[in-house]
Amino acid sequence: DWAQRSLLAIRGMDKQIGAFLTVEEDQVMANARRLDDAKSNHRMFGVPFALKDNICTAGQKTTAASRILENYIPPYSATVYQRLLDQSAVLMGKTNLDEFAMGSSTENSAYQKTRNPYNLERVPGGSSGGSAAAVAAGMVPFALGSDTGGSIRQPAAYCGVVGLKPTYGRVSRYGLIAFASSLDQIGPFTRNVEDAAFVLQAISGHDPMDSTSAPMDVDDYVTHIGDSIKGLRVGVVTDAATDGLHPGVQEAVDKAVQVLAQAGAEVVEVSLPHSVYAVATYYLVAPAEASSNLARYDGVRYGRRAAGESLLEMYERTRSEGFGLEVKRRIMIGTYALSSGYYDAYYLRAQQMRTLIRRDYDEAFERCDVIVTPTAPTPAFRFGENSDPLEMYLNDLYTIPANLAGLPGISVPCGLVDGLPVGMQLVGKAFDEKTLLQVAHAYE
Ligand code: GLN
Repeated sequence: DWAQRSLLAIRGMDKQIGAFLTVEEDQVMANARRLDDAKSNHRMFGVPFALKDNICTAGQKTTAASRILENYIPPYSATVYQRLLDQSAVLMGKTNLDEFAMGSSTENSAYQKTRNPYNLERVPGGSSGGSAAAVAAGMVPFALGSDTGGSIRQPAAYCGVVGLKPTYGRVSRYGLIAFASSLDQIGPFTRNVEDAAFVLQAISGHDPMDSTSAPMDVDDYVTHIGDSIKGLRVGVVTDAATDGLHPGVQEAVDKAVQVLAQAGAEVVEVSLPHSVYAVATYYLVAPAEASSNLARYDGVRYGRRAAGESLLEMYERTRSEGFGLEVKRRIMIGTYALSSGYYDAYYLRAQQMRTLIRRDYDEAFERCDVIVTPTAPTPAFRFGENSDPLEMYLNDLYTIPANLAGLPGISVPCGLVDGLPVGMQLVGKAFDEKTLLQVAHAYE
């Protein structure tokens, strides 16, 4: 059956790719056997999938690719996981990521390298690199990731698959290990847009366990996906930042816009004047929230505990040994930005800029239905190539604004540059994933 074939693919390929941190072979077969005919009308019946290892699975290790959660076994499951199980999908394993989802290449994992299936010398992107690679290599038909500043869309672009970040609040975050709670959102990686619609349908909806999940009905994403996009307005950003933008990427996106125009869309120009400040804003807001969220890893409540003469020494040792460099960097930036005396100068200013960025979108969406940009400025880079953290941060310039504004975004493969896949990003109105998927599908 399907799960068995997926298992064979993982066994055959994952030594080279390194997408999975854990594969629960026995459990997979047990789960697959548990599916009986009575459930065969479930939409996800027998469909194998993978979860980024920051999504909690009761009874199965969930590490966030951090030493500090090395042997952590959550006592409960994330709502997204539970919903997929309820629809008889089969979990194959947990995928690699940048530690606590902080990064753009999956190089920050405490455990292993994940390689880009299109070119093993290149990174798969990040932070959901394992999920992207697992889908790109055909090991599973879909996987879930999390996106705080681009961690679904950017690896999807690098690995030549579809990646969707839903509107903030569309999908429950219950059981997602928190990075930056006001930005985090779970979403699917798939081989095509239609599959993304199916998976989104399965995981969306209000969840009383997540107070930020929206009490709104879920649209039917699947039925109308093939509707004509005639008359829909596609916004092209005239004042987008172009730092480090590969001309080939821009060309590929321009061509994709032409395809949408041929399919009947009206192309209009829009302006997002504050989006040039998005990266600076994000790298205050996200670390600030992270420093607070990660305070709970103190050696007492979760996972790893180091020895120490006193309580303070135990805390210190646990955290110094348990966290990697990038995580420590973020905790320090965030703690600094939130310190009394600095709050007004940094965090407050960042929140104000966040509002301006959101207003830019409000205005732009009076003139269009979706906004097109590249997903990332370049195709996948080589391991070690972006060793300066600031360079790495700039990689997110096209994806971050949608997180700050809470809007849905999708990356769709739109050609090859230097022989490597690149993606077009579409950003939609809040809770209008339906139109987003429809336009993406019309391009594909
Ligand atoms: N690359 C960004 C970061 O390092 C985004 C990560 C994410 O979306 N989880 O924070």
